[in-house]
Amino acid sequence: MKLRLAGITRESAVDGPGIRAVVFAQGCPHRCKGCHNPETHDPGGGRVLALDEILERLRLTPIMRGVTFSGGEPFMQAGGFAQLGRLLKAMGLDIVTYTGYTWEALTGPDAQAAWGRLLDVTDVLVDGPFIEDAKDAAIAFRGSRNQRIIDVRESLRLGVVVDLSEKYDSVGS
Ligand code: SF4
Repeated sequence: MKLRLAGITRESAVDGPGIRAVVFAQGCPHRCKGCHNPETHDPGGGRVLALDEILERLRLTPIMRGVTFSGGEPFMQAGGFAQLGRLLKAMGLDIVTYTGYTWEALTGPDAQAAWGRLLDVTDVLVDGPFIEDAKDAAIAFRGSRNQRIIDVRESLRLGVVVDLSEKYDSVGS
């Protein structure tokens, strides 16, 4: 299994709770106005890496709480990211996934089967496109106020969105 990536960051404190590695997907269909990572849009750009190469490059250490999948759009390569997520969770790490899709699109009638597999390994989903008019530098882990920090396990269990945004905004990122 391989993934096309825009890059890897080994230690970040702003892409989800705790110290995290970040894997940036290459390719994004959303074209949000004001996107900070336009170089990640081209689905033919970036670099193709096997999952074992990615794990090697992450060089995970015990201080890391988890790994964040960002982009680009990880759900464009949902099967590969789901497989990477399974490997990382088996190592005791948690998974945060950023997406330009909304929770409702990812779980609605037009959702692709592989999207469900990526949701299944995701602990926290930050959903929705970046909307420039709703940009807010003061909120935790996201760029605009329409985006939500979603507890995936509880949302799937209860069948409603469990939104953790206020909780994280109140403690700061
Ligand atoms: S989803 Fe993210 S990477 Fe894609 S266009 Fe929007 S802000 Fe940029």
